[in-house]
Amino acid sequence: MLDSAYIKDLALGAGFDECGITARRHLAFNEQRFGEWLDRGYASRLDYMHNHLDKRFDVGCLVEGARSVVVCAVAYDGAVGEELRGIDAPKIAAYASRRDYHKVIKKALQQMLKSLQQRYPHLQGRAFVDSAPLLEKQLAVEAGLGWIGRQSLLVTPRFGSYVLLGELVLNDDVDAYDTPYQGVGCGGCRRCVEACPTGAVTNEMVIDTNRCISCHTIEASPESRVNLHGWVFGCDECQMVCPYNRLAESGRGELLPRLFHCKDLSAEEWLSMDEEEFSQRFAPTPLKRAGLKKIQENTKK
Ligand code: SF4
Ligand code: SF4
Repeated sequence: MLDSAYIKDLALGAGFDECGITARRHLAFNEQRFGEWLDRGYASRLDYMHNHLDKRFDVGCLVEGARSVVVCAVAYDGAVGEELRGIDAPKIAAYASRRDYHKVIKKALQQMLKSLQQRYPHLQGRAFVDSAPLLEKQLAVEAGLGWIGRQSLLVTPRFGSYVLLGELVLNDDVDAYDTPYQGVGCGGCRRCVEACPTGAVTNEMVIDTNRCISCHTIEASPESRVNLHGWVFGCDECQMVCPYNRLAESGRGELLPRLFHCKDLSAEEWLSMDEEEFSQRFAPTPLKRAGLKKIQENTKK
């Protein structure tokens, strides 16, 4: 039996802003909702969404002997949206102006796992960051961190939606699990629905990726006809208007300090950049995932 207080201390020590723990269970309601989302065609070109459906709704199918999931969150600069309002420069989602969170969060989780294994030598576990068919936002709800907003992102009462998640799946029970977050804090608010420039936030509280700028700037093919509204990597429009982000506390900023400001790079600078300069300036960031060519194509749209 693992000590929950010890796990949470490790998470804080590793630089995370929030940590919750949930028991492994089959997420049957989400399985039904996800099936409906796929049936409506909202996954568009994201073919991988159709894969590993059994594992997606039960971490026990993903990690043998899984008993518990530790969900950790890093908050990043909740006020950043205000800076992007009305700028002429090509816009980049706030999370992408930092080191690639996949690598940073995974390293921090692996450090936690190592410390846990020193105290509990029998313990086995795996770290995940947006890299496996894991229902991470729902696991965060189960672990008491917040609710899933209309824009389909996790919203936390303290840090709003500008949080990035990582999970440790462990093969032992924990002495105290967190209470799942009750209710949805959105109430009658529909600001994200109204602010989305392409109508991608549907009335069913899910995103239609056919219309989502974020997906089109990163994953879609060059013939995409969606108007990108000045975004060249990701899109934060539905988060910039969220009242919880306006009121959010700043995170500690230890794990993901900002490396650049997109307002400092004009369209001309992006279009004249070569691969060498791109690599020098942006290799540690998530922009590498799209690559310079894709960002330049998006800049021209
Ligand atoms: S990321 Fe942008 S395009 Fe996608 S749902 Fe949010 S506001 Fe709409
Ligand atoms: S903008 Fe309003 S509806 Fe959208 S996630 Fe935030 S609180 Fe919920």
